[in-house]
Amino acid sequence: MRPVIITANWKMNTTPADAGPLAADIAKATDVANVTRIICPPFTNIAAVSAAVEGSGTLVGAQNVHAESKGAYTGEVSADMLKRLVSWCIIGHSERRRDQLESDELVGHKIVRLTEVGISPMMCCGEQLDEREAGKAVETVQAQVKATLETVLAAGMNLPSDLVIAYEPVWAIGTGRTATGADAAEMAAGIRATVADVAGAEYAESVPVLYGGSVTADSFGEFIAEPSIDGALIGGAGLKPDQMTGIAALAAEAAAARANA
Ligand code: PEP
Repeated sequence: MRPVIITANWKMNTTPADAGPLAADIAKATDVANVTRIICPPFTNIAAVSAAVEGSGTLVGAQNVHAESKGAYTGEVSADMLKRLVSWCIIGHSERRRDQLESDELVGHKIVRLTEVGISPMMCCGEQLDEREAGKAVETVQAQVKATLETVLAAGMNLPSDLVIAYEPVWAIGTGRTATGADAAEMAAGIRATVADVAGAEYAESVPVLYGGSVTADSFGEFIAEPSIDGALIGGAGLKPDQMTGIAALAAEAAAARANA
């Protein structure tokens, strides 16, 4: 059975001073059974968040990692530097694809780097609005997933058993617009079909697929009601303990229902 996962992506918000108290509030607000709970603060606030959530069961993730192991990359952070600081890392977020022009192949190399050091990769993918309007959403995302995973295989590595794929339609991120549950389920099926082509059906069934894009306590129920959607990657609402309380409660209900099914 796949885990139910809720991940707060804090983006470039919080400081070392306020991240700890906020993380402690969120850890308390999301203290539910059988749900994997992850907070991804900025690099500079990882230590404060880790100290604040210690013993709560909340896990800590990074928002990015460099695709090379080490070297002359001023200002960058390697997988080795993150080892033991975080258990998860978001990669390929659409804001990085937009601002740093990250490609699917680069994201594949990041999976390799994370897997080498035992950090679980949470790989983002998603279509632009014009691609959805042209009826090309599923094929666009499938191409992203295929190119990324094939890069990992071409590097001589098996796909990691802890890979998570977060489907985030770009037009839904930070806009207050969401996809529908049915759209997300259609995309999850498309993603798993591509993963199955690359790595086999059994592996594809084991990969959790999350939805992301303006998720709130009000909208999350529609997504987690879909059996193919295993949780959420949450931006804005991930900074709000009251929102995270509602999201975690829905996640716990879904986890319990799936365990009893
Ligand atoms: C995100 O940062 O991945 C995200 C989905 O943001 P928001 O929930 O604010 O749309």
